[in-house]
Parts: sequence; C-alpha cells; structure tokens
Amino acid sequence: MKVACFSTKGYDRQSLEAANVHYGHEFTFFDVQLNKDTAILAEGYPAVCIFVNDIADAAVLEILAKHGTRLLTLRAAGYNNVDLQRATELGIKVARVPAYSPYSVAEHAVALVLTLNRKIHKAYNRVRDDNFSLEGLLGFDLYGRTVGVVGTGKIGTVFANIMRGFGCSLLGYDAYPNDRFTAIETAKYVDLPELLANSDIISLHCPLLPSTHYLINAETISRMKPGVMLINTSRGALIDTVAAIEGIKSGKIGYLGIDVYEKEDDLFFEDLSDTIIQDDTFQLLQSFSNVIVTAHQGFFTREALEAIATTTLTNITDFEKGEPLHNEVIYHPHG
Ligand code: NAD
Repeated sequence: MKVACFSTKGYDRQSLEAANVHYGHEFTFFDVQLNKDTAILAEGYPAVCIFVNDIADAAVLEILAKHGTRLLTLRAAGYNNVDLQRATELGIKVARVPAYSPYSVAEHAVALVLTLNRKIHKAYNRVRDDNFSLEGLLGFDLYGRTVGVVGTGKIGTVFANIMRGFGCSLLGYDAYPNDRFTAIETAKYVDLPELLANSDIISLHCPLLPSTHYLINAETISRMKPGVMLINTSRGALIDTVAAIEGIKSGKIGYLGIDVYEKEDDLFFEDLSDTIIQDDTFQLLQSFSNVIVTAHQGFFTREALEAIATTTLTNITDFEKGEPLHNEVIYHPHG
C-alpha cells in the first residue's frame, strides 16, 4: 500500500524500512509536519502516517479525504491531534500504536525525577568546569517519600513500580482504577485533591482530553505541598504553563520536569539553535535551574521504535486486507 509518512527523521525511516522488509508497503517519507499547507503532498496516498505534532484537524482531514486518503495511522499512542469526529464523517479510519514500550516513557520520567533531585544537570556542568563544590546540590532521599501518579495505565503503573523500588509510597488517581496499580505494595487510590495535598512528587500519565486539559492549574497547584516536584511526560496541555511558572516563582513548585510542552509543535524535534525563539513563556520556563525540559524523548528507545514500526505496519496491512483493525481509534460522541 502507498503510505505518505509525515514528520519523519532518519531514525523513523530506518526503523520503518527495517520492519517493512516483512510487509512490503511503499513508503514516501516527508520531513515536514502534516498541516493544511502540506496535506496536498498526500494526494494519491490511501494511507497517511503521522506523529504527535502533526495536525489532523477538520481542515486537514478534508484535504486528505478529497485526495483519496482512507487510513490515518499514528506512530504514537496519544491521538489528541486528530479530529476523530470529522475523520469518521469523512470515512477515514484512524489507527494508532496503543502500546509500544511503557518502560521507555516511565524510565524517562524517573530520569527527570533523579536529575532534578540530585541536580545532575548542574553537577555535570560544574565538574567539567573544574568546580567541585557541592553548594546548591543538596538532594533528598526518595526512600519513604510519597509519589502521586495521575493516570495509572500502562506507563503510570510501570512508573509506580519503579518508584516503589526506591521505597516510595504511592497514591494513584485514575478515572478508571485498575488492579495492576493496587497490586503494587503501598499503592492506594485516592481522589485528586488528596493526591495533590499529600504527594512529594506528582507524575502525570493520563491522556490529554477535554476533561484533563489544564488539569494542573493555579487552583490545583495551590493544593499541592510546598516545594512539590511535578513531572509531565504525558501531554503538554495537561499543565497550564503560566500557572506553573507562577508556582515556581512562589516556591510552591520546587522542581518541574517536563518532556512535553503545551506549545511544543513549533519547537520540538527540530534543531532551532540558530533561531531566536519567540515563545516568551518557554524561554522563561527554561531560565529556572529547578526546571528541566526534554523535547518529547520519552518514547525514544530502540525497543520502542521497533515496536512502533511493527505495529504501524501491521495496522496498514490489516487495513489493506480489510481485516479487523485492532488498533483503530473509534470516535465516541460523548468522550
Ligand atoms: P493508558 O491508556 O495505558 O493509561 C492512561 C490512564 O489514564 C488510564 O488508566 C486511564 O483510565 C487514565 N485516565 C483517563 N482519563 C483520566 C482522567 N480524566 N483522569 C485521570 N486518569 C485518567 O496510556 P499509557 O500508554 O499509559 O500512556 C499515557 C500517556 O502517555 C498517553 O496518553 C500519552 O499522552 C503519553 N505518552 C507520552 C510519550 C512520550 O514520549 N513522552 C510516549 C507515549 C505516551
């Protein structure tokens, strides 16, 4: 099947081409993001393959449908960038990679926790500069701390298990609680206000939905422990960034580790080192030494890339053969 693949980097091409040896689809790789200006590139391609910052809103989907696209397959788990209702109306099936390696993202969240706590980013630069002072590098024992996990699905549960390994107690909040989380020793479900009030570290692992947009805002931040560590490896718009900056300035938020940012579409996955970044909020965020931003790299392990490629190719083959599309994202009118 002919597949137009957007927002592709060398590593995407490599993993998709390696897996495609067993499938035989015909890929055309585009560097550019899918949006209303680039959608025309997919003319004549029945399948379009996209990533997290591609835009598949109503306007884009209408262009794709007009030019023959019938399958939109995401190289990602989250699908908040797709207008599912419009896709359904236009007869475009949407598929995704629901699970590839929950370990990749959970382990990255833990990397942010450890780096922020033990100030590895500062220590690395200091030692390279022959400065061996420990002033300002004081951390805390993770052992005995309380970790709040918002969204206890695949990634949240792996994260919780790792934190349990450090000797932390776990509080979970989830719209749909599950037994895998409560099977972890010391883990219990509480409501969101209780989680916010009692956690030393809060890590977000729920999807971005209308109901979770700005879940972390001025009001929810005010309920947190002073000096809390907040980690977001899920989706940027779970956090109202301006409110988080206020929280950092007041000291309410003691540490912020984010792998995702609400306006990352204009920034992430590109080398902008020769550009003046116009996003003042992002620049301000970057200026705090107790904030670490990584550029949506949680998924970026060898194992995850291989699994993403294989599932994406399976989705395309299932669709081509008219077989059940196991990883289809179905539109539910009421959320
Ligand atoms: P999952 O579906 O297994 O788990 C999500 C959990 O969130 C579920 O238990 C669900 O019940 C819960 N949830 C749904 N609505 C909620 C709400 N309103 N409040 C609280 N919890 C709610 O998904 P997953 O594989 O664990 O992925 C979690 C998120 O991680 C994805 O949605 C995606 O946005 C993000 N992600 C990020 C990266 C990265 O590279 N940084 C990679 C993959 C996924």
